[in-house]
Amino acid sequence: MARIEQVDIFMLDLVPKVRRVDAIQSFVSQETPMLRIRTDDGAEGVGYSYTIGTGGRSVIALLRHHLAPRLIGRNPDMVEQIWRDLFYATHATAVGAITALALACVDTALWDLRCRRAGKPLHMAAGGAQLSAPLYTTEGGWLHLESAALVEDALRAKAAGFGGCKLKVGRKPHEDVARLSAVREAVGAGFEIMVDANQAFQVDEATRRARLYEPLDLAWFEEPLPAEDLGGHVRLSAQTRLPVAVGESIYSLSHFREYLQLDFPHFEGSADSPWWFCAAGEHGSRVGKRCRQLPSPPALAAAFRT
Ligand SMILES: [Mg+2]
Repeated sequence: MARIEQVDIFMLDLVPKVRRVDAIQSFVSQETPMLRIRTDDGAEGVGYSYTIGTGGRSVIALLRHHLAPRLIGRNPDMVEQIWRDLFYATHATAVGAITALALACVDTALWDLRCRRAGKPLHMAAGGAQLSAPLYTTEGGWLHLESAALVEDALRAKAAGFGGCKLKVGRKPHEDVARLSAVREAVGAGFEIMVDANQAFQVDEATRRARLYEPLDLAWFEEPLPAEDLGGHVRLSAQTRLPVAVGESIYSLSHFREYLQLDFPHFEGSADSPWWFCAAGEHGSRVGKRCRQLPSPPALAAAFRT
């Protein structure tokens, strides 16, 4: 039985060419805390999470001082047990973004190690439901970019084989509509366009915006409201045909469960895990690929099945 004998922690700063802007924030670096686990039989796994420019050093400190020491000597196959132990060892600072992002580094590293050892990619280790999935890009959709740049990037993405692109919203309403219209006109029907407000609005404003966006045939309206406003999402979802997407800023199993147990007419969840896809599917929700913090995936699925 293999044992974890070494844990390396490091920070990778991904610096964009220009300051990136969305509806509520801007940043000059995507901090990417990373963690590499090595076992005594030579196996290795790498995990990571990321922040929008702040807090990454706090994630690193939590990993270095509290989480990594607890991994030494553990059986890396016990992914679920390790996640639970680490979660309760840091319970004084959970639930919250810093702790969730640190746990995600460990969790993804353990799954990476497990898959490398098995010689399988994650989607096969998870059961192999399908061999391909459509991808979208948000790389060229930032709020500081003007319409011509949005159109250029969307056309480039379409030519490269992407199934869609995601654009930030949060300028004045008529500006958002003009920008989205320019992209829709350029890419035509059949290429998905998503929008993301990064939690900028309250219900009335989000409803107004959603109705303005509806004629543009959008795939979803992401984070229109503060993530904790469960009732607001229910009211908004009842007043628009647009699918409403949440999940990027949810950090606990219980919060995910609150959303999934509601009967939304239009709802998109978001996560990286195939288990999360299963759990969401059982509740009739569609799931997009958007997440940087992972509860332990099997734990998440189990939570919804009970
Ligand atoms: Mg987002």
